[in-house]
Amino acid sequence: MQLAETVTFGGSGLNRAAELRGDAAAQAGMLARGRVLPVWRGKPLMQSGGLGWVGSDSVVLYHAGAPVFLGFDADQPCFAADISDWLPEAGAEAVQAGFMDQSEQRHPGLPDSYAFAELRAAMLRLTPREAELAATAKAVLQWHRSHGFCAVCGAASAPVMAGWQRSCPACGAQHFPRTDPVVIMLVTHGNRALLGRSPVWPEGMYSCLAGFVEPGETVEAAVRREVWEEAGIRLGAVRYLSSQPWPFPASLMLGCAAEALTEAITLDPAELEHALWVTREDMVSVMAGTHPLIKPARKGAIAHFLIQNWLADRLD
Ligand SMILES: [Zn+2]
Repeated sequence: MQLAETVTFGGSGLNRAAELRGDAAAQAGMLARGRVLPVWRGKPLMQSGGLGWVGSDSVVLYHAGAPVFLGFDADQPCFAADISDWLPEAGAEAVQAGFMDQSEQRHPGLPDSYAFAELRAAMLRLTPREAELAATAKAVLQWHRSHGFCAVCGAASAPVMAGWQRSCPACGAQHFPRTDPVVIMLVTHGNRALLGRSPVWPEGMYSCLAGFVEPGETVEAAVRREVWEEAGIRLGAVRYLSSQPWPFPASLMLGCAAEALTEAITLDPAELEHALWVTREDMVSVMAGTHPLIKPARKGAIAHFLIQNWLADRLD
């Protein structure tokens, strides 16, 4: 797909400078002259113009864990640091509430224009470079938060390589940030595309079917299995289109197009509450937000991107 990398969180060509990750002196020098993106409980610091960067001596980093080196934006070294131990005066309870956290938390050490915000709510305000930096920061920091102990022996592990690895002092095992592949597919049959909705989604919201790739499975096999399991539809040709890092918490979405061989839908009620075939004409009104029953996939998500490009005949 020619437009593959124009998806939100698509590649911005960030120079990650992995060769400097093991150089402690270089890291210290870059941290001193660089900038840091604080992330609080998965929410990056934002300001009106985009991401909310601070200097490495900022009071905001008082609770920070070890910084992660993200790479260079032009000549500027960029880091991220987790400040989840900080307790805001208000709004901490909102983070766990609802389908998407719309709350914002403000830090007393920063101007009022700065706030911690859910990345899915803020992602459309970011440049491609900022989106790549934010997705990388969120994914790596979340991995550190949930992988504090060695998966081999259970001892506490420690970050090394500028945050791109954890090392176990007890057994010597090395651990690397996880990325979990998820297939998401635009299934078509002639003039129609298949949409489904999960029981936990907001009312009326529909999207493409999706599911985790299992060990021992190709992308194509995962597409066929998921559509068969969730909707009872057999697929013919499957082709890969575009990928999207989706750090909620650690997915890599693999966008595919697939042709259905059968039409009848048999739902797996544990996975899907409803699924249906939508004509191109109806899909135009879904995407415009004017359809009476079906609300579109979230703008910025790869499902929205695939459907939009299908409508515009730009999947090649
Ligand atoms: Zn160990």
